[in-house]
Amino acid sequence: MPNEIKGLNEECGLFGIWGADNAAQLTYDGLHSLQHRGQEGAGIVSNENGQFHRQRGLGLLAEVFADPQKIATLPGTAAIGHVRYATAGNHGIKNIQPMFFDHPGEGQFALAHNGNLTNATQLRRDLTKKGVQFQATSDSELLGELIQTSSQTNFIDQLKASLNQLRGGFAYLLMTPQMMVAALDPNGFRPLVVGKLANGAMIVCSETCALDQVGATFVRDVEPGEIIIVTDKGMQIDHFTTDTHLSICSMEYIYFARPDSVIRGISVHEARKRMGAAIAKEAPVKADVVIGVPNSSLSAAIGYAQASGIHYDMGMIKNQYVARTFIEPTQAKRVRGVSMKLSVVKSVVAGKDIVLVDDSIVRGTTSSYIVRLLKRAGAKSVHVRIASPVLKFPCYYGIDIQTTKELIGANHSVPEICQLIGADSLAYLSVNGLVESIGALNDQPNHGLCTAYFDGQYPTPLYDYQAGFDADVARLGLYEGAN
Ligand code: SF4
Repeated sequence: MPNEIKGLNEECGLFGIWGADNAAQLTYDGLHSLQHRGQEGAGIVSNENGQFHRQRGLGLLAEVFADPQKIATLPGTAAIGHVRYATAGNHGIKNIQPMFFDHPGEGQFALAHNGNLTNATQLRRDLTKKGVQFQATSDSELLGELIQTSSQTNFIDQLKASLNQLRGGFAYLLMTPQMMVAALDPNGFRPLVVGKLANGAMIVCSETCALDQVGATFVRDVEPGEIIIVTDKGMQIDHFTTDTHLSICSMEYIYFARPDSVIRGISVHEARKRMGAAIAKEAPVKADVVIGVPNSSLSAAIGYAQASGIHYDMGMIKNQYVARTFIEPTQAKRVRGVSMKLSVVKSVVAGKDIVLVDDSIVRGTTSSYIVRLLKRAGAKSVHVRIASPVLKFPCYYGIDIQTTKELIGANHSVPEICQLIGADSLAYLSVNGLVESIGALNDQPNHGLCTAYFDGQYPTPLYDYQAGFDADVARLGLYEGAN
């Protein structure tokens, strides 16, 4: 299911390069393969011998750069770029990144952010008291303001001191005239990788699929608490804290990341196949054919079919050419968008008992529409298998669901959801099944994963969000119902 329709959205995608003649073009190409991480806006800043040039706008990357001359206005051998989906702040142009800041030592720096800070309200309040006037409304600007008001004397020390004041999920790319710097939060919620071109140019980006896109080789993952500094002399690895605890967002494996990406050595496609195989074992059902909801559920559907021995077929197709008006982030447009985007292949489903594999159910409106579509096409029965656990808890680390009100799984039992979506049966993967399927880092607690969406076990304090979360738990008795 495309992110923009399901209503479960990643905040952003990052791509930066240092040391390439066509830096802006390569940044455009890299960002293109990260478009799934944000469709509301895009921007690129290039660095021409210390002078910055920027283009940014609302919409898809190809819309922002529809005029081919725009890339030509971004000369220089280094660039950073960003694709955005707003989880914090409004949707205006001022929030489109990269953002610019003045700096007494460096002259200027540019900044791009993926994630969500859990102490943004407090920091904004503190900075406002110090007289800071914010350019925009998103929490991405906070790091820039903290650097500007830091009492440290050089850029890297200012950056380190500022990063240590942030809480929550954050991956940053910054660029000064002299360097590109990447930073990852102490839990490493979001993927961030380093790559290299054959000519020696260094790249930092959100997913390995962007490295493949520009012909770069993978060098390493950015580790929690690290800062990576790239200059004309090469790459230097430093850190702003050693108090780290890896908690990669499990939704990256389930849904957000592209299937051709590899996160911390694990192929996203293979992890999804294992999730499909695991739910086939946990909740078997007799059926004639397995189909997946395109596109993000297809890997899990293949895994389900392989493990169950039930034939896999292409029961649904996705129309790639739906006008942008249907992918605006409102519920009414999402529902209309689903009907424009998805169609059933009648010859595959008519008269058959179907296993429908999907990666997740957020609000339930999409699932109920799909079940109806399949039944209208003549399916005898539709057994829905979700290749992830029930979404019960909000995310405060960079996904746009920040209240349980929106989550059908927080407000209804599995039998109720089954009835609401009109399925003949419904089962979800267990949290253990998920963790084992991803099989991330065996030496770390919870395999180095964040599974808070499913079990409410947040890897960090929630700061600004704690009171709202406590109210949700009290209202819904969430912990009793968590498993
Ligand atoms: S709460 Fe969920 S979506 Fe948010 S970081 Fe954790 S696993 Fe990912």
